[in-house]
Amino acid sequence: MPLVSTDAIVLHAFDYRETSRIVRLATRALGVVSVIARGARRPRNKFGAALDLFASGDVQLMTTPGRDLHALMSFEATRSRPELAESLDRFAAAAALAELLLRFAPEDADPELLDTVTDALNALGQAAPGHAGPVALGGAWRLVADLGFAPTLDHCALCHAALATDVAVSFHHRAGGALCAACASQSRGARTLPPPARDALRSWLGQQATPLLDEPSLRAHQRLLREFLEEHLTDGGRALRALVAWERHEVHA
Ligand SMILES: [Zn+2]
Repeated sequence: MPLVSTDAIVLHAFDYRETSRIVRLATRALGVVSVIARGARRPRNKFGAALDLFASGDVQLMTTPGRDLHALMSFEATRSRPELAESLDRFAAAAALAELLLRFAPEDADPELLDTVTDALNALGQAAPGHAGPVALGGAWRLVADLGFAPTLDHCALCHAALATDVAVSFHHRAGGALCAACASQSRGARTLPPPARDALRSWLGQQATPLLDEPSLRAHQRLLREFLEEHLTDGGRALRALVAWERHEVHA
């Protein structure tokens, strides 16, 4: 049973039996894993408040080959993120980012993914009132890019023809991005992407400044992201509940 030391972020946690918690962690060494924190519900347990949602920490895991539930031996919090629970905007957005990782991250080492989600949660925690949505959308699309299925924006996803940057294009989830007019005419189910929406996606994927969005644009972008992810789900199509909740949640300035 090898002991693994790595850094991690708490993505999800739930009670298990009388005294334990099961925690889903994004880790640098092992990707997204499930761990059991034995005794975590006892008063004065060794984990304390370290296992709060979205906290970062240095962890030690006892892994068992062939098992997909590891034992959490210790969690030294390096950064808790209470600011994410202080507003519903931030919390709903952080939960959506966590769900994206829980559903799409492969179970193997992925240092970039941990850095990207860390940056995204830090940015979300500092987002000005009303800006949580665009900041989280940026984090979500960068996670999608790290996971290897970023949408094409400036070339047709099917025939690779270059697309003019200042025109509305068709965006096709299954094809994997923007389409030229010829390919769009033969593809059902495409959505029209106006130039500002494509600019926003380009900024997020290129790690440029976060664009400001009015409420209808924010909603349209949340829907676009969710539909894109739904098209890429491979685990049986369970609903992306946190993303749906984020989309339905009323934005408070
Ligand atoms: Zn084409």
